[in-house]
Amino acid sequence: MTERRPIRVIPEALKNQIAAGEVVERPASVVKELVENSLDAGALRLDIGIERGGQGLVMVRDDGSGIPGDELLLAVTRHATSKINRLEDLAAISSLGFRGEALPSIGSVSAMRVTSRSAQSDEARFIEVEAGRVLDQGPAALDQGTRVEVRDLFSCVPARLKFLKTEAGEARRCQDAVMRLCLAHCGAGFSMTVNSRQVLSLPQGQALADRVRAFWPPAVCQGLRPVSFAAGGIKVSGLAGDPAAAQSRPDRILLYVNRRPIRDRLMLAAVRQAYKGRLLSSECPQAVVFLDLALDLVDVNVHPAKQEVRFRDEGAVFSAVRLALASALSGRGDDIMREPVSGFGQGPGSARGPDIGPWARPHGPAPERPAALPLPLAPAPGPGPGPRSAPRGPIGLSGRDVTYLGQLARTYLVLEIGRGRLGLLDQHAAHERVLFEALRAAGSKGETRPLAAPLELPLHASAAARLEDIWDPLARVGFVLEMAGPERLLMRGAPPGLDAGRAKGYLEAVLDSRARTLEDLWALMACKSAIKAGQALAADEALALVEAWLDCPGRDYCPHGRPVMVSWEAAELEKLFKRK
Ligand code: ADP
Ligand code: MG
Repeated sequence: MTERRPIRVIPEALKNQIAAGEVVERPASVVKELVENSLDAGALRLDIGIERGGQGLVMVRDDGSGIPGDELLLAVTRHATSKINRLEDLAAISSLGFRGEALPSIGSVSAMRVTSRSAQSDEARFIEVEAGRVLDQGPAALDQGTRVEVRDLFSCVPARLKFLKTEAGEARRCQDAVMRLCLAHCGAGFSMTVNSRQVLSLPQGQALADRVRAFWPPAVCQGLRPVSFAAGGIKVSGLAGDPAAAQSRPDRILLYVNRRPIRDRLMLAAVRQAYKGRLLSSECPQAVVFLDLALDLVDVNVHPAKQEVRFRDEGAVFSAVRLALASALSGRGDDIMREPVSGFGQGPGSARGPDIGPWARPHGPAPERPAALPLPLAPAPGPGPGPRSAPRGPIGLSGRDVTYLGQLARTYLVLEIGRGRLGLLDQHAAHERVLFEALRAAGSKGETRPLAAPLELPLHASAAARLEDIWDPLARVGFVLEMAGPERLLMRGAPPGLDAGRAKGYLEAVLDSRARTLEDLWALMACKSAIKAGQALAADEALALVEAWLDCPGRDYCPHGRPVMVSWEAAELEKLFKRK
């Protein structure tokens, strides 16, 4: 063992180099920190240049507010920041930076020159830092804004150099860092050069979809759907890729919280959940998702490079993101936007949103819906570690005055409606109603989905006679049928939203039964395929069902006339408990 040395406070330059280990992992971290500073300064024009994968040079020039000459030294001093100055500020951070660490950290592991001119001053000034020591300061020539040049990154920290990839690889990471930030700041124009070659040129005030096109191939950008959702103080916007255009690349799920690029397992799980059943197992969703919520509902001060956050109410975030994406994929985003917004993240008993949820609304005609069955019909996956990570506990139905409390006897969904009304929803009856309405919508529009490969069914002579009777109604719900011989039936098209196997199941059930009218047919189909009593439902499946059911006209009764829900007002419960 070596001899013990006394405890000493380490020199400032070394402190910065230690901090740099967390903040400046590679050239792309420098690019990210500098671009974030420019955006925090309100820049509308950013020019970025890198050479030799960022080890030779990282340069960011902006037209932002600039740094007053007498603050330049502070800008490169650790824990000096213009963005927060009180403990309370930490609870509501609206800027990308806040720790006052980036410039001093970068300056401690490179040769850095910051040149800046603020709106108020008529001359620019510069400061030069090398390996953490201030070398020089003085006047300079520059229009309003800031230019930061970082040279010879890590040349004084050889240990770090060893961990870098090839120059091309590091350059790609730098470009990715710019891409992540510029998608969230479409108001600002960006240009970027790599070894003096221009690789990016984006005008100010671009639409997100146009900006995404600069980064994703046309095949992926085709069919991008707008995401637009707001509920309970949470806004979710962005773009969702068409499942049909999905590819196997997992890196095109770009998540943001209050315009900060982040990695987040909860949001990722919510996006995956929304795409579940729409992709092959080898395919990945493609989405740009902006979550915007009140600053005090998210803690951004949990990760050294600010790439992770913590949410106050994970359940609300999960269901908002999942619903937002699911709505975009089924073309229902706007519909949900119109729902009243209820309170979120407030303690129990605090004011909720307006008490005029769809519940209190008179039963009007159903909003226009695409003729797809609104629920995944696959049986609920069994227990065990699956991708499902829906949070436990009560879940508010975004935008509705309804909270899902859980499943009872694997048959009833327990709901709190408005303030204190207890509802028990029969999952089978509710699903029947949902499917019935979807079939009715599909049936009255006569929409069909052609099958890639026609399905052949044997047809018994007795069934052939029945088929005559119901040929027309079947066609009106979307079946495209053809006789392929005396005892063979070909199915060429099916109701939209039904996969071929399920459509075949319907057809067989219908041919076996006594359904005559179109309504009979719908009721039968709905009953055959609805979730059964006794089937365990995951929280998100239950939520999707409740949501779809809330939108149904005639939702109080199943197609056979049985009640779908029984409920008790808080006052009735009080009577039951003899409190009154
Ligand atoms: P932070 O961003 O956490 O405050 P930084 O070390 O990144 O810390 O920057 C220190 C300070 O320097 C910032 O708070 C800001 O006032 C100023 N600054 C840095 N870059 C710029 C810029 N491009 N434009 C204007 N001010 C800047
Ligand atoms: Mg910063």
